Amino acid sequence: MSGISPDELPSNRIKRRGLMLVLSSPSGAGKSTIARNLLDTDRQLSLSVSVTTRPRRGSEIDGVHYHFLTEREFTRMRDNDELLEWAEVHGNFYGTPREAAERAMSEGRDMLFDIDWQGAQQLQERMSADVVSIFVLPPSMAELRLRLNRRAEDTAEVIERRLANARAEIEHWREYDYCVVNDDLERAYDAVKAIVQSERLRRDRRPGLFEFVSDLLKETDR
Ligand code: 5GP
Repeated sequence: MSGISPDELPSNRIKRRGLMLVLSSPSGAGKSTIARNLLDTDRQLSLSVSVTTRPRRGSEIDGVHYHFLTEREFTRMRDNDELLEWAEVHGNFYGTPREAAERAMSEGRDMLFDIDWQGAQQLQERMSADVVSIFVLPPSMAELRLRLNRRAEDTAEVIERRLANARAEIEHWREYDYCVVNDDLERAYDAVKAIVQSERLRRDRRPGLFEFVSDLLKETDR
């Protein structure tokens, strides 16, 4: 098979619907690193860039990590039905722009949504057939605190608030299709990759299989 570009492989030409990959976890559980690794290595996957009213962190780029909005701009988008879901998290507003997500789905492209349990619930209610949801759990609360402190991107007060919220977030674990414990980043990443790979192969997500199998069978008739 070497020398053939992946796009030309018969198996990759079978049309399928886009996957809405939802990743949630309490902050510090490693979800963002897993998401970044996935996006770097999987060219079929793009990130849904959320809008938020949270102040930008030093390392973040407007339009890449988030679209940073004022509360007024956010409210206007929400009221114009331009958000597929939205929620208040840690005292700030976050939302998923509808247009980019709907375009990706209609073009059969996969999208990754780094959103909290409230957003996951809304997407699951509205587009359940396309949603695959994964909850990333920390190995322990002590480790979660360590990771938040090590990240040193937030003030002590913000870290305490995030820890308090972590418990509430974790209580929603049952609402997800998959749970991955991130005690080792490499293994957690491999697990998420395996889930994505399997979900892409689901028969009901691949309307193009009908034509593919019909052609296969025709070959045997000849
Ligand atoms: P952070 O402020 O650390 O970037 O994100 C805080 C939390 O908000 C994370 O759990 C993240 O997944 C969630 N979040 C980010 N964007 C969205 C969004 O568009 N919708 C919802 N519901 N949650 C989001």
